[in-house]
Amino acid sequence: MASLKNTELPPGVLAHGFHKLTHGRFEITVLSDGYITLPPDILMPDGSAEERRKLLGRLGGNGEGAPLQTNIPLIRTEADIILVDVGAGMNFQPTDGRLIDNLIAIGLDPNSVTKVVLTHAHPDHSGGITNADGSPVFPNAHYYISEMEWSFWTDPDFETKMQDGLHEFARGAQRDLGAVKDRLTMVRAGDEIVSGMAVIATRGHTPGHISLELVGNGGLLIAGDIIPSNIVSFENPRWHFGFDTEPEIALANRASLLDRAANDRLRMLGYHWTYPGVGYVEPRGTAYKFVEG
Ligand SMILES: [Zn+2]
Repeated sequence: MASLKNTELPPGVLAHGFHKLTHGRFEITVLSDGYITLPPDILMPDGSAEERRKLLGRLGGNGEGAPLQTNIPLIRTEADIILVDVGAGMNFQPTDGRLIDNLIAIGLDPNSVTKVVLTHAHPDHSGGITNADGSPVFPNAHYYISEMEWSFWTDPDFETKMQDGLHEFARGAQRDLGAVKDRLTMVRAGDEIVSGMAVIATRGHTPGHISLELVGNGGLLIAGDIIPSNIVSFENPRWHFGFDTEPEIALANRASLLDRAANDRLRMLGYHWTYPGVGYVEPRGTAYKFVEG
């Protein structure tokens, strides 16, 4: 079992090591890129002062913000080693960028990763594509991103079309996506990455955000950031998330994904959920409860 350093995950996770599950033909290890800290006006802009105080506490934070984990599934099939998102590298916060250390800790050479699926091109998901010198971290991997996500971030006129707050993200996305553009496939809803792993469109967090649905044992949805928190978003599914580019579309897609997962008893894996972020959605009145499993 790999050892995790205190700086990589909040206390309490250390005893668990890396979580493993088998889903149909997929062997999944949930790695971590460390954690990021987000302030309450991003995490829960619609919450009252009292709601913010309570939720930040439950997330392990304080008045300033709360830590959110970064759960990266490493998926093995007979022929492939697939990562869904690659973390931040050196490009977001000092407490993330741990994916490579954790890959090496489980004895996996970054050269052996064959496919990388990007749910979207925010820096905490795609900043880890490149090394500091601009070379790709996973030199033998083929990359997958949605067509819409690619066009949104690589638009040469982004400075006039995009709100100012996103310009830095766009420059980072252009740097990272540009480094792998010769080995990148643009996908749409319904496309398969490998047999049994299909793309579903979950637009709103970003214009081309995608999730993945894996066949086997009833279905597994790898959600990305369409449902940002297993606490805040499950209990308050009508609250906005400050990092959503298209807030109302994100809300509608978040609600329909939660509803579907609850009705169909689908297992879900969320990027920023409490590690390892794998579990089920149970209805609770007009909201939901996350049940690990
Ligand atoms: Zn994120």
